[in-house]
Amino acid sequence: MFKKLFARLSGKYVAVACNHPTKREGEVRAFGECTTTHMPLNENGTAEWCLECLGKMAVKCAWCEQVIFIGDPITLYTQTKSDFKLPANAALYKQEPLQVVGCLRMSCADTGADRAGFWVPGDDGKGGVHRVASPLELSMVSGAEIAMSNLGNMKVAHKVQDTIFRHIETQAANNPV
Ligand SMILES: [Zn+2]
Ligand SMILES: [Zn+2]
Repeated sequence: MFKKLFARLSGKYVAVACNHPTKREGEVRAFGECTTTHMPLNENGTAEWCLECLGKMAVKCAWCEQVIFIGDPITLYTQTKSDFKLPANAALYKQEPLQVVGCLRMSCADTGADRAGFWVPGDDGKGGVHRVASPLELSMVSGAEIAMSNLGNMKVAHKVQDTIFRHIETQAANNPV
């Protein structure tokens, strides 16, 4: 109880999943890039992972090879080229059909309506896909127009019921030697 109060006052936590001391908000680094992350707290009021571990969970977009940090919205496009090689540190979502994790940057996503999920921490310390219905999928179901202004916000995204979370194999060693 006291510990929790102290954590709240100081803004410092010991992340429960990895046991590293951490702050709620700070810089997360991966592949030479940097982002500021405001860590979501679990129901006990503590953070699951420290900022450094979050950095290790980042992957690269399978298309542009820019960094996808924890919390970033992602696409799950299907790769149809038979000679496609997953870039190093990019993530595969599904083998059949070949679906890869991509970023939602203008150069990679046809439209924000293709947002298929978010890159989130997995229990195993690797990143994974938190699948949500894309605005396009939602509009097909409901026939209604969907407000597109909140695409980066996981809280207002609609979860897809049957595939909430899926662990991903990242291929770190895909470089020719
Ligand atoms: Zn950690
Ligand atoms: Zn990209």
